[in-house]
This record gives sequence, C-alpha cells and structure tokens, in this order.
Amino acid sequence: MGLVAGYTGNAMKPSHDPHAIVAIATAPGRGGIGVVRVSGPRLQAFVHAWFGRTLRPRHAHYLPFNDAQGQAMDMGIALFFPAPHSYTGEDVLELQGHGGPAVLKRILDRCLELGAPWRMRHAEPGEFTQRAFLNERLDLAQAEAVADLIEAASEAAARGAMASLSGSFSAQINALSDAIIHLRMLVEATLDFPEEEINFLEKYQAAQHLADLRSTVATLIRQARQGMILREGLHVVLAGQPNVGKSSLLNALAGDDIAIVTPIAGTTRDRVVQQIHLDGVPLYIVDTAGLRDTSDEVESIGIARSWAEIEKADVILHLQDARQPGDVLDARITQRLPAHTPRLTVYNKIDLLAAPPPAPQQTAASDQDTVLAISAKTGKGLDALRQTLLELAGWRPTAESPWLARQRHLDALQQADEHLALAAEHASHDDQVLDLFAEELRLAHECLGSITGRFTSDDLLGEIFSSFCIGK
Ligand code: GDP
Repeated sequence: MGLVAGYTGNAMKPSHDPHAIVAIATAPGRGGIGVVRVSGPRLQAFVHAWFGRTLRPRHAHYLPFNDAQGQAMDMGIALFFPAPHSYTGEDVLELQGHGGPAVLKRILDRCLELGAPWRMRHAEPGEFTQRAFLNERLDLAQAEAVADLIEAASEAAARGAMASLSGSFSAQINALSDAIIHLRMLVEATLDFPEEEINFLEKYQAAQHLADLRSTVATLIRQARQGMILREGLHVVLAGQPNVGKSSLLNALAGDDIAIVTPIAGTTRDRVVQQIHLDGVPLYIVDTAGLRDTSDEVESIGIARSWAEIEKADVILHLQDARQPGDVLDARITQRLPAHTPRLTVYNKIDLLAAPPPAPQQTAASDQDTVLAISAKTGKGLDALRQTLLELAGWRPTAESPWLARQRHLDALQQADEHLALAAEHASHDDQVLDLFAEELRLAHECLGSITGRFTSDDLLGEIFSSFCIGK
C-alpha cells in the first residue's frame, strides 16, 4: 500500500520530479482566451530560450509566441512566477493566448519541443495541484477543494468548496490535532516517570480534555455530514404504479419537460434522471417504470430496473393516486420497499378530488412514512414536498455556509471518534493503562492527519489527484 507514515515537510515527499510539465489549462473548445501552463524547476532558461529575454516575476508581458522558425503563432500575455511563490511551488510560466484549440495546441507543442532539456511532458490530471500539495502550498483537504470548486454545480456548493479551499476546514482539523498533541505530550511525559502515572488523569484534568476533544469531533462530524450532502447530493427515486403522475412530478420539480408524459400506462420504460437543486443541495430525481404485473417483456425489464433503483435510493418517494387511497397494489409496493430507506408517501392529483384531501395521517403500518398530498398538474403542495425532501436528506441550513466534505473525511472523523472513545474507556478504569490511552490518542491523531494529508498513502493520493481535470 506504500504508506507514507507521518511525513511532514518536504523531507519525505517526492517533491523533485525532474520533469517539467505542460498542459492547456482552459476548458476544451473555443473561448476569448486560452491558457497554457508550464511548471518545473529552473524555467528561467526556458523562458530566455523562447523569448530571448527574462520576464519580470509576476508581471504581464505582451509578447509574440513564436514557432521554431521565428514566426508568431499568436500574440499574448506571458506571466512568470518563480519558485516558491507560485501555484505549484515550482517555477510556473502561464501563457495566455487566444482560446482556439489549434492555436493552443501549437503553443503546447512548442513548449514540449523547447522544453526537451527540462524533460518536459504533458501533465497528468491534477498534477499541478499535486505538486502544490507536495510542495506544501496546499494541504490535501484544500487540494480536494480545488477540484470541488471546479465541479461545483450550485452557488452553495461553490461557496462550500471555497470555504474548504481557504483553509477553514483544515484550520479546525489542525486545531483539534494540536489539542490532541498537547494531551499526548502530557501522557508521554508521564510515561517516562512511572511513579507519576497514578495521578496523571487528575493532575492534568485529562478526562475533561478528552471530553472536550470528543465534543469537538462530534460537531465536526455533524458539519461533515452537511458538507457531504452538499457535495454528493441525494438520490430520490420516484416509485409507484403506472399513470400515478411520476413523470409529471419529475417535470414539475425540474420545471422542464424531461420525461415523456402520456395518459398511456407504461410509458416510462426506463429510468430518467434529472438533477435539480434545492437550497443549493443537488437532488438526483430518478423517474422509473411504473410498478405493476405485466407480461410485456420490455416493460418487465424496466420494472426490474425500477426495483434496482429503489434499492439504491437515499429517499423513496412512493407516488399514489389520491383518488384511490389504500389501493391493493400500492399496499403490495409499500410492503416490498426496503425498510431502511427513508420514505415519503405522496398522494397526487388532488385537483381531481371533489373534496379537499383529509389531513395527512401516519398509519401504524408506515411509521417511517411521511405523507403529503400534491397536484403535479397545478403545483399545489410542491413547496412542502421540496422542504420535506431536504429534511429527509438530513439537510439543516445554517447561517454560515458549510465546507464541502467527502466520504473519506467523514470516515476519518468517525475513526478518530472511535479511538477517542477507546482512550476514554482506558482512562475510566481504576488501573488506568496509560500506554494504551496514549496509543489511542496517537491513532486518533493519525486519522485527523489523513484528512489534511499529513499521514496518508500513495494510493490515496493517486486516487484523489487522478479525478482532477488536466491542467489543474
Ligand atoms: P407516470 O406513468 O406515473 O409517469 O404518469 P404520468 O406523469 O405519465 O401521468 C399520467 C397521466 O396523469 C397524464 O395524463 C398526466 O397528465 C396526468 N397527471 C399527472 N399528474 C396529474 C395531476 O396532478 N392532476 C391531474 N389532473 N392529472 C395528472
């Protein structure tokens, strides 16, 4: 697994890859400008070889970008950022030319040609940011936030990514790590003087310190859950009999005609997924084939897929016709729904009822059910439905925007919490085993360090950076 245990600083990091790297940093396609970015050690000579002059650090120079014959391929802005004050911590050259694929490709090729003595090659996905991490310009959580900011599809997600990138998440993790280090120092010092062990916990109020640490971890876990919802979104599966209005509801929620709506039962033969944002939280609404007994082979496949989607759902929205409450087939569907998944029973087409629907009631058979009445056609009840979906997702809006979190952050926090719980258990015994207490603190500390990249494995780094786009 190649575990790089506890490295800090450059000493153990492979920060001196001898290759310079180059990539087109702007998105493919055509745009007003396009940027080619180069990073590597000692690029001043490369700059001189191309432009016949040195570039003033961090100043914009308007120059021709010439080919090998001295013909201008483009005119543009060259910016030189000498190490270590650059994005990657190495020398970085940014060339801003016109944003066309052919011209940018020529500039890129010219870099590779001129850069042979620097063993220049195409950058791997995320390699600029990886070098920034290895050269300690960013920690790992911040590096992940760079990718999240680029990926962000809602304003709330972008704000959350920026909060992580600016270091507010890392700062909380570091403060917690420092508090653990402090307690570890006290324990380790005591371990060197065994006669003092007996009084250790009282003397340093270690139990109180530990309780404070655990309460901070619990807060961070709560925040990380919110950050994960914001980043990963929520899969809501629309389940129900044919013709109850699943596609109409999908369209109403999306505000667009995505699914085909017809009065013929069995129209949705396969799933349709639509992403919408509620309060900035991404919701993936999955419209499935209507659930019923059928001899049609194609429809049966669609229904099997519906059940597969239902199994994977974060929230199941069981749509029913308000005119037929207590329908036998709906009761059968309800029985088959997975018990562990939050479920919302929604009665649709209330506009067709002669009398207003009775107040929603929870039945004994469906304790985890929330019941709502709507009309996908008129839009009645949809705001309440949106609100309920967010609540079921566990979304608790707060005044401050949360940082974005990943599953690995949440896992690491939960593991840290488990180690602190074990430490507390060791401390609670009459014959306190201080070296076990110290060991659990060390392990909790390592878990937190894996979030910011202080303790991490090569495999994990590879996985994180390979999900970036090229040029970042
Ligand atoms: P699905 O098979 O469950 O996806 O159902 P559709 O969305 O295709 O709808 C079936 C029929 O019910 C269509 O004719 C819709 O126009 C109609 N429908 C859907 N929702 C409502 C509603 O809230 N009120 C009324 N009056 N008709 C609806």
